[in-house]
Order: sequence, then C-alpha cells, then structure tokens
Amino acid sequence: MDKFTEMAEKLEKMSAGEKKQAMIETRAMCICGECPTYSTCMKEKDELLYCLNGKSVCPAVMKGCICPTCPVTGMIGLVKAYYCARGSEQEIRG
Ligand code: SF4
Ligand code: SF4
Repeated sequence: MDKFTEMAEKLEKMSAGEKKQAMIETRAMCICGECPTYSTCMKEKDELLYCLNGKSVCPAVMKGCICPTCPVTGMIGLVKAYYCARGSEQEIRG
C-alpha cells in the first residue's frame, strides 16, 4: 500500500473531531497562496488544500503548480499536481 492510501485510510478511521483537527493542521502547511496559478478569486474564497478538498470553484488558469515543493506532498505521499484545476489526489487517481 502506498503512503497516500495509508494516510487516506487513517483519516477514514478518525473521529470527526480528529479529522477536523488534522485538516486544520495540514491546511496551515499549504503553500498554494505562493503559486502563480492561485488567483484573486481563490484567495477571496479562502480556498486552500485542494489536494484533499478537491478543485476550486474558481476558474483555474494553469500557470505552474508548486505542489511538488509543498511539505504536505512528502508528508502524505501525493504524486499528482494541479489539484485546484483537476480535483483531489483521490479524485484524480479515480
Ligand atoms: S500539495 Fe498543493 S494543494 Fe496540497 S497543501 Fe500543498 S500546495 Fe496545497
Ligand atoms: S493546487 Fe497546485 S496549481 Fe493549484 S494553486 Fe495549489 S500549488 Fe498552485
């Protein structure tokens, strides 16, 4: 089992409170705000953590993706990118 699948299973087993806390802590590590693709619309909607939350409600014009350099990538074993445009890691994997 790969790291991301392990993490997803761990999240599933958490209580609602534990899951909420884990999401808050992971969101705080998200560097989307520094990305060229991160738009004013995304900022106004206070969106982050697309890798787990899924795609943006705003149109995403792909100008580069810095997800591979984000600490969350290594921590939870992400292998994809452009989550704001394409959906969460889980959704992209299908
Ligand atoms: S991997 Fe990308 S979407 Fe996920 S927390 Fe990091 S910067 Fe945000
Ligand atoms: S998901 Fe990737 S492309 Fe989208 S804003 Fe975050 S770092 Fe940029």
